[in-house]
Amino acid sequence: MSPPSPHVLILGGTAEARTLAAALAARPVVRVTTSLAGRVARPGTVDGNLRVGGFGGAQGLADWLREHRVDAVVDATHPFAESITANAATAAEATGIPLVVLRRPGWRPAPGDRWHPVPSLDAAAAALPGLGRRVFLTTGRLGLAAFAHLTDLHFVVRSVDPPEPPMPPHTEVILARGPFTEDGELALLREHRVDVLVTKDSGGEATAAKLTAARGLGLSVVVVRRPPLPDGLTALPGVVDVLERLTRLGLAPA
Ligand code: NAP
Repeated sequence: MSPPSPHVLILGGTAEARTLAAALAARPVVRVTTSLAGRVARPGTVDGNLRVGGFGGAQGLADWLREHRVDAVVDATHPFAESITANAATAAEATGIPLVVLRRPGWRPAPGDRWHPVPSLDAAAAALPGLGRRVFLTTGRLGLAAFAHLTDLHFVVRSVDPPEPPMPPHTEVILARGPFTEDGELALLREHRVDVLVTKDSGGEATAAKLTAARGLGLSVVVVRRPPLPDGLTALPGVVDVLERLTRLGLAPA
């Protein structure tokens, strides 16, 4: 009897997770399952198996890994999804199952940028009144509470699904999913007379155009820095690197 095919669990929610799932699903013997938190109403198609919803903490994840005979976990979650990354580290240690972390590199300021790096959404909110009155907020619909007390500022919030209160009283919502173009971002910033942009340092191409557009208009940009990875973990920057690592572990024969 041939040995069972290796089973790779991808913790997803990013474009890279989707690309990795497609690459692994195309390999003949690998079984790939992508896990999504279930935050987005219509997440789109994913190659391979899909499961949706939390595991119930690190213990629940460890149980799931054992029960589904997972051979490797790839944490390809968003750089700001801190809890699931911590849970993956704990569960991997508890089960002895290899964990590979995929993190797209963060953005780097370019000449002409007026960036204000801050450590948190709360710090971003504290910085805003000194920087402008019309704010383009792209930090995700779940982080709006940090800005809810800023009653004198006008916010343009862009998110995939509609945000829910608490949020600032003067808020306009734009529902959209990237990728975004530089021309589109310039038009949006001009149309809404934005004078300051707030973003997480998500990295990647799909949402980088707002930074180029802000540079072109000389706007201030409040950049929320990434949380650190749990102790002892280092990240690989791209899908190709993860495929190489899995291949070396004997888990993704081409
Ligand atoms: P988080 O704070 O790290 O996670 C909160 C809880 O949600 C986790 O403890 C876990 O619940 C569940 N969860 C998160 N990711 C999961 C996954 N891939 N599969 C199954 N359960 C998951 O995460 P978050 O910041 O709310 O982000 C949720 C998801 O959205 C992530 O998968 C992330 O990749 C994606 N995302 C996040 C951002 C962002 O800015 N944070 C941006 C774009 C996409 P249990 O403890 O019950 O297992």
